[in-house]
Amino acid sequence: MEKIVSLCKRRGFIFPGSEIYGGMANSWDYGPLGVELKNNIKQAWWKKFVQERGDMVGLDAALVMNPKVWEASGHLKNFTDPLFECPECHGRFRLDKLLPSVNNVKIESTVNKHDSEKEYYINQKDLIDQKLIKEIIRCPDCQKVFPDKMKFRFFNLLFKTFIGPAEESANVAYFRPETAQAMFVDFRQVLETSRKRIPFGIAQIGKAFRNEITPGNFIFRTREFEQMEIEYFIKENDWEKSFEYWLGEMYDWMNFLGLKKDHLHDLEVPEKERAHYSKRTIDIEYDFPFGKDELYGLAYRTNFDLKNHSTSSGVDLVYTDPESGEKYIPHVIEPTFGVDRSVLAVLTEAYCEEEAPTTKEGETETRVVLKIPKHIAPIKVAILPLSKKEELSNVAKEIHKEVSRNFFAEYDETQSIGKRYRRQDEIGTPYCVTIDFDSLEDKKVTVRDRDTMEQERIEISELVNYLKNKF
Ligand code: ATP
Repeated sequence: MEKIVSLCKRRGFIFPGSEIYGGMANSWDYGPLGVELKNNIKQAWWKKFVQERGDMVGLDAALVMNPKVWEASGHLKNFTDPLFECPECHGRFRLDKLLPSVNNVKIESTVNKHDSEKEYYINQKDLIDQKLIKEIIRCPDCQKVFPDKMKFRFFNLLFKTFIGPAEESANVAYFRPETAQAMFVDFRQVLETSRKRIPFGIAQIGKAFRNEITPGNFIFRTREFEQMEIEYFIKENDWEKSFEYWLGEMYDWMNFLGLKKDHLHDLEVPEKERAHYSKRTIDIEYDFPFGKDELYGLAYRTNFDLKNHSTSSGVDLVYTDPESGEKYIPHVIEPTFGVDRSVLAVLTEAYCEEEAPTTKEGETETRVVLKIPKHIAPIKVAILPLSKKEELSNVAKEIHKEVSRNFFAEYDETQSIGKRYRRQDEIGTPYCVTIDFDSLEDKKVTVRDRDTMEQERIEISELVNYLKNKF
């Protein structure tokens, strides 16, 4: 992970946010290359899941919605994580991360007399007796043993804000914790304006906010992140078939990102661990550098959301089948994809260190190369004149202009050619085009392949076509 984080910072993919002010914990900014990679992923996703299909439409809704949305969706009440605070060092932890088998654990509760709020606790000795833990748990930060009776509370992850100048309860609003709800709230308008029939889906890409208790692992878990989500509306009886279909589509997508099947694992989420709205959930986990963890999720949300929004808003969200006249509230299959976790998985999969020959005969060095799939690489082609001499750079700039009309291409004439290749390898540029003095005579350039390092002489007039065939 350290190597990836350091490469990202050094080469301008991702760096700590607000760094000149000492940074801000777990905030990351996508730099010039990061934004290209991230946009390429988002665009490819949009193309595959929206534009290339006849049964999907897009949406781009507001980040801050009417707070009633979160009441109806259950987020105000249920979108919580169990928070445990170390009595010694006051470090805060998610109880379910301290106790992986927390779902089998008996949670007891009492009502706190002062504020009539429920207090929750678990009994560690009982857990040892039940063989759910081997020994009393210690604080991961200060190493002190936790009390036998561990008190915790449920912490709501919604990101609160105030609308307008007065910070009073009437003006409380929330940044959306998922993009999904807008697809339900706008269901009626989308249906009427797009004239789609069930089955059909609504897709959205956008920011989501969660007041995570323990953010970390670089861009894996942050409080501000991006999601690509689909709500696919179906008839209830079709849910199992549709669920399987979407699982397949998600694997297709992960294959497109270059993620190896061996590094991906389906986790059938047991009922007790599922979100409040879900009747079946599969978490697709990826072997991240810090361990196996959730990359994407697939959930059968039943018709929980549309039903609740219909009741709460008083607006009828019943669908009428135009042919049979049958009326029902559609059910939903939701494939959800984290953008930032996609970027992290792509970088993890692509990062390679290999021994490669240097320009000196018989010598080798370690080459760091990001083998990002060509179609999502931030820069597709680098144009590298061998020297800064005007006669070469004039030709090289012309070539750059021509190539740039078709591909995102970078022009670089500084440093030795070896160093320039190394930089392009590290940022995952699939092709380097070198212009040398022979190019002036034979009107050919050398194209170097990032992965094989093989070089080919290509006619300048044929270069764009040659590259088009490669992508
Ligand atoms: P986790 O169990 O890791 O907290 P979750 O199950 O709460 O995740 P979902 O509600 O299913 O996550 O969110 C959908 C997707 O959004 C996840 O699969 C993940 O890719 C992404 N995601 C969720 N939370 C975060 C976060 N804090 N930072 C970055 N991406 C996130």
